[in-house]
Amino acid sequence: MSLAQVSTDQVKDGLSARIDRLRPELERIGRDIHHNPEIAYEENRAVGWLTSLLREHGFEVSTGVAETPTAFTAIRRNGDGPAIAFLAEYDALRGLGHGCGHNLIATASTGAGIALADLLESHPGRVVVIGTPAEEGGGGKIRLIQGGVFQSVDVAMMFHPDARTQVPHWALAVTHLNFEFTGKAAHASGDPEKGINALDAFVLAYNGISMLRQHVKEGARLHGFIKEGGTAPNIVPDRTSGEFLVRARDRQYMEELVQKVKNIFQAAALATGCSVKLSIEGEPYEDMRNNGVLAGLFEENLRKLGVHPVEPVPWENAGSTDMGNVSHVVPGLHPTLAIASAEVACHSQAFLQAADSLRGYQAMIDAAKALAMTGADLLLDPALVDQARAEFRRPS
Ligand SMILES: [Zn+2]
Ligand SMILES: [Zn+2]
Repeated sequence: MSLAQVSTDQVKDGLSARIDRLRPELERIGRDIHHNPEIAYEENRAVGWLTSLLREHGFEVSTGVAETPTAFTAIRRNGDGPAIAFLAEYDALRGLGHGCGHNLIATASTGAGIALADLLESHPGRVVVIGTPAEEGGGGKIRLIQGGVFQSVDVAMMFHPDARTQVPHWALAVTHLNFEFTGKAAHASGDPEKGINALDAFVLAYNGISMLRQHVKEGARLHGFIKEGGTAPNIVPDRTSGEFLVRARDRQYMEELVQKVKNIFQAAALATGCSVKLSIEGEPYEDMRNNGVLAGLFEENLRKLGVHPVEPVPWENAGSTDMGNVSHVVPGLHPTLAIASAEVACHSQAFLQAADSLRGYQAMIDAAKALAMTGADLLLDPALVDQARAEFRRPS
């Protein structure tokens, strides 16, 4: 073993011990966020707890960045060197609280940032913890990208709790489409010929989308629901509305599918005599680009901690995340660590409990350590940052 390796190992042992000492505070905040769920763009208390801990550890904190009250950046720096960002999500699911475990993401990234910043005393660079609200719809990271927050960042890393531990993470591009059909009400028995049936229009559209599903590329997903389907069985429904998500493995194909889905809605309107209003909610989420250099370092660090990821199956169980958008702007890392057994689904009651369990907090600590250790690899050897960026620039 070379001297350099010995010293890198010692540095990593030091980071690990630092995070163990931070554990009570990280767990307390993780629990507070879990017990006080705040949905997209309302995460005021979570931001308060995280930023006060970061301030206590010498970070320069700016809240309300990118004109978003619940977004923040926390920075510690020493001259010029790699800028390593850890992303903290903290929004809850509407109606389910922290059933996606973002409380653990927030504290893992904050802990990683605090520990890694100690290294700045001897190595130039910047450690940035970025508070990214509204992942569960709302696209907080997209606002931060548009606000220029990632312009001065070299790599962006986070972990996500899951039912399995997997380092590369695949996420689909997604567009959120809202629809409204308007017809004409009439007595469904007395005057059916005078009615224009908005429910028929929806059923036609739903069946059209179901047929399209047979002819899409591998991995595409089309799913949605109806919010308003009528008011009484003896009234021809004059209004239906709902939402659909269109997902695909890349943005270009997703956009092709969005156009096809829009055509189906238009066709259903034409067939029934209804009018249709279609609108896209927010900005699309992009697919996740995995950076092999970052993933390789993180996996090695995870194994050092005795945590062994499963063999990744590309695109298996893929959802979507606004971290995908970040991964198109800077080299990104979004591994998962298991906090529950394999049969537990994310966004469920069981997952909600796992996000506030001993196993959940252990995964948070392991993730904080592996993230900080990966940051140390980059600060100690900035050539690795160049490698990650060179891979990022190559077309995927
Ligand atoms: Zn989620
Ligand atoms: Zn999530």
